[in-house]
Amino acid sequence: MTTPRILPSIDELLQRTGLSGLEAEYGSSAVLAAVRAVTDTLRQELGGPTPPAGDREDAAQVIERRTARRLELAFAPSLVPVINATGVIVHTNLGRAPLAAAAARRVADVAAGYTNLEYDLAEGQRGSRSVHAERLLAQVTGAPAAAVVNNNAAAVLLILAALASGREAIVSRGELVEIGGGFRIPDVMRLSGADVREVGTTNKTRTADYAAAISDRTAVILRVHPSNFRIEGFTERPALDDLVALGRRFAIPVVEDLGSGNLLHAQAVAGIGEPLVAASVAAGASVCCFSGDKLLGGPQAGIIVGDQALVTRIRSHPLMRALRVDKMTYAALEATLLEYARGRAEATVPVARMLHATVEVVARRATALADNLSGHPLFEPDVIAGVSTVGGGGAPGSEIPTRLVRLTARGRSASWLQRRLRQRRPPVITRIEDDRVLVDLRTVAPEHDEQLLELLRTLA
Ligand SMILES: *Cc1c(COP(=O)(O)O)cnc(C)c1O
Repeated sequence: MTTPRILPSIDELLQRTGLSGLEAEYGSSAVLAAVRAVTDTLRQELGGPTPPAGDREDAAQVIERRTARRLELAFAPSLVPVINATGVIVHTNLGRAPLAAAAARRVADVAAGYTNLEYDLAEGQRGSRSVHAERLLAQVTGAPAAAVVNNNAAAVLLILAALASGREAIVSRGELVEIGGGFRIPDVMRLSGADVREVGTTNKTRTADYAAAISDRTAVILRVHPSNFRIEGFTERPALDDLVALGRRFAIPVVEDLGSGNLLHAQAVAGIGEPLVAASVAAGASVCCFSGDKLLGGPQAGIIVGDQALVTRIRSHPLMRALRVDKMTYAALEATLLEYARGRAEATVPVARMLHATVEVVARRATALADNLSGHPLFEPDVIAGVSTVGGGGAPGSEIPTRLVRLTARGRSASWLQRRLRQRRPPVITRIEDDRVLVDLRTVAPEHDEQLLELLRTLA
């Protein structure tokens, strides 16, 4: 097919200032490829049954515009910040915990340069990355030793591989749970090389069931916090104290997967019945593990704390090399733990702040937002009572009273409105109930209130 005469050549196009400007931003080969693709498409359009009117200059301008747009899309990052207005505090799909400002600053501090990640500054020689965060973890949990890996799933895998491979790990049938995203406790246990020795039943397991299963093949007793579900009614589960006493009698370590990593919120917030890490350590669990980015409110990580000798064995296992974390994770974790150590996490760690925000404070912000949006052409705002949740397997069934801004779309469906909010930059993520869009400010940082108002106000 011959090129319609009005199309400029690629060389001509690249001489134009609009396109050479793009080269500075995107590089010459990307611009060349984009110009070629755009020109090809336009050539096909011009060859169609009704070629659009226009001259060479018009065509060049169309190509310039389309090329700029194409490159903008091609170079846009896939991972972007969003505004979480869902009211789910630890939202796994939205990246779980937002970092404290101090933690984000520490990440930026270490990211671009060299660090003492594995360098002993006192001795001037090779050191161990495991020392980072260990002192702080000891301070906030009471455990003498710690190790940090990629996430809590990795922590469970590594602990069992190091302590129970080729031997038995005893676990209650009531705790063989799936946490979500395909993480199933029995599968991870098998992957570690441990033999899973199930005891008890789904709803009832007694200390005597564990005792009856102990043999010379037993390596650990595993206790798993059933994070995201509850069995109600006719149930029984031994107290940690009783398992610890049993373990001591037979010199078998009790390992507890705590899931959410609650350092602070035990009784503070109604409905958060999550076990405290320090309580498990104090009760005598030999090794505990938990996530860094659930209730703790730090970076994605799996944190292992416990007896010195056992943690040393865990750290020396070859899998540790595959599961270890980088300098940015240590930086964010240390900075987050420092906020706990200083006793001010409730004010500075976003997850803690959101959990503790009173309904009055959320109500004030919600009323201000709704007032500022009244008379909006696309929706009618009002404020109603509702609940926020912890989410992310953070605290099953926990509901925190909140106030919601309810948006009733005018002449359109709630899902249409919700989609339009997702298309904003930054995207605003909401939930729908009773065909209304709900905005929960509990999970929106107060410093983003104004930005959120603008994103809603200018929705057209
Ligand atoms: C969330 C959870 C895990 C998995 O933790 P990740 O950090 O997501 O890998 C494992 N065990 C329990 C009990 C959990 O709640």
